[in-house]
Amino acid sequence: MVDAVLHVPTPVNDPVSSFAPGTPERAALKAELARLSGEVAEIPCVIGGERVHTGRMDVQVMPHRHRHVVAKFHVADADVAQRAVLAAADARREWASMRWEARAAVFLRAAELLATRRRATILAATMLGQSKTAHQAEIDAACELIDFLRFNVHFAQQLYQQQPLSSPGMWNQTDLRPLEGFTFALTPFNFTAIAGNLPTAPAIMGNTVVWKPSESQMLAAWHTMLLLEEAGLPPGVINFVPGYGHELAPVWMDHPDFAALHFTGSTDVFKSLWKRAAANLDRYKSFPRIVGETGGKDFIVAHASADPAAVITAIIRGGYEFQGQKCSAASRVYIARSVWDKIKDELVSEIDGLKVGDVSDFTNFMGGVIKKAAFDRHAAAIAEARETAGMKVLAGGTCDDREGWFVRPTLLTTEDPSVRHMRDEFFGPIVTAHVYPDEVFSETLRLVDQTSAYGLTGAIIANERGAIVEATTALRNAAGNFYINDKPTGAVVGQQPFGGARASGTDDKAGSALNLLRFVAARTIKEVFVSPTDWRYPFLAES
Ligand code: NAD
Repeated sequence: MVDAVLHVPTPVNDPVSSFAPGTPERAALKAELARLSGEVAEIPCVIGGERVHTGRMDVQVMPHRHRHVVAKFHVADADVAQRAVLAAADARREWASMRWEARAAVFLRAAELLATRRRATILAATMLGQSKTAHQAEIDAACELIDFLRFNVHFAQQLYQQQPLSSPGMWNQTDLRPLEGFTFALTPFNFTAIAGNLPTAPAIMGNTVVWKPSESQMLAAWHTMLLLEEAGLPPGVINFVPGYGHELAPVWMDHPDFAALHFTGSTDVFKSLWKRAAANLDRYKSFPRIVGETGGKDFIVAHASADPAAVITAIIRGGYEFQGQKCSAASRVYIARSVWDKIKDELVSEIDGLKVGDVSDFTNFMGGVIKKAAFDRHAAAIAEARETAGMKVLAGGTCDDREGWFVRPTLLTTEDPSVRHMRDEFFGPIVTAHVYPDEVFSETLRLVDQTSAYGLTGAIIANERGAIVEATTALRNAAGNFYINDKPTGAVVGQQPFGGARASGTDDKAGSALNLLRFVAARTIKEVFVSPTDWRYPFLAES
């Protein structure tokens, strides 16, 4: 032990590697891609640090080469899920009472390992399993996850430092207690960083966790678990439980010790989990914390004063990178007629020129969409657009699932701004544009605000300051992350804390102190140095 007031190292955002030809990081990544492509990982459950092989197997495939299995994993059943709760309870006794600096050191060590010798492996696992390009894997699985780990311990320190005032003769203290019970982390396929953050953020604050990763992100999740183990995370603090959400969630959500849900995924799944928690209130020992970041129907508004090249870049990067499978991806665009007339031909030809294919070939801008169900959903949305009056397919519009689940980046236009394509999340490379007369900007902002149930991200592209000010005000509740003259994706930990309200979630801002606060129950302590010894107040005297 040490007697010292410690400060965690000041975090800085992890630099993004270029992977340009001839760089060492490119050579290391290519080698790791070849290695992981040549083997099939077998992934067990990890309960209290022990490998559990259930024998009930499922597989994860490469979305861009769907006959190629990258991992097979052991599917947990209700019994394994129950054992995970017991392991979390066992581990909690030491973990919750450990000095927070000692806990923090585990995650700082994990960040350093990921930034160095484990980097290429987790990048390759994310590229092959989720079909991300080298750049998309780098900003997610390396940079963002490293940032989550380093910044979250820094934010934890800030929270622990916030202490109340003390009048003379007394000492008041705030003790941020870990929640009583266990946290259930349920993670999505699309970000390795989010999958790593949802179990680790509560653990940093002294909680113990059962983590169910997505079937479609299994390999990178497994390497994240191995990373945490190598960093010295004690057994049982995070229990790794591959399986099916509809089978496992009820086991954990019906448990009296269920203390928190840390979820990222679709709005419908989140609603169903919240309803289950509500129905269970009488059986819980505490009111559980329900934290969820969910879907989006993210927008770009191009004002008549917008730089045309900025609009094209924002649509292509914001709409199509990682096949549009970011919760923040732009999928509805409102463009002033005068701007549209300038950009239409170039935009269509740029989109048609985007290369789609195997992400191991670094010249591809996009890979495959995550699974067959997603591919079918996108194909149906495009087919529906072809049949909808007033809609046109201007670019892309074709799908091919012979080798991988490839959907061409697609640009649709609609005369009617209330069609389903402007309201519903498809979670694929489909952008729908509505062209509005330059002079109806204010009405268009109202439309943007009211068309969709979501409120995650959005962007205004304009040069006129008055238009920027008007949009920032009119769209105040339409997006939790609002961008001015930039694409609405690519939030950086510590710089743009991420999350939205409305149907997009509880807006607890991943990678910020706001999020960590949800996983503690504050205790206030008052100590008086010399206790009062007479109960009578002076005013009670008669004279
Ligand atoms: P999903 O909701 O299908 O799955 C999320 C997790 O829940 C997975 O682990 C899955 O196995 C599990 N699950 C699925 N059905 C379940 C059920 N009935 N009961 C219990 N668990 C169940 O989401 P996804 O396809 O993995 O991710 C895409 C969604 O996530 C999109 O809607 C996207 O917008 C959203 N997302 C939001 C954010 C954000 O920060 N707001 C970030 C990333 C993704």
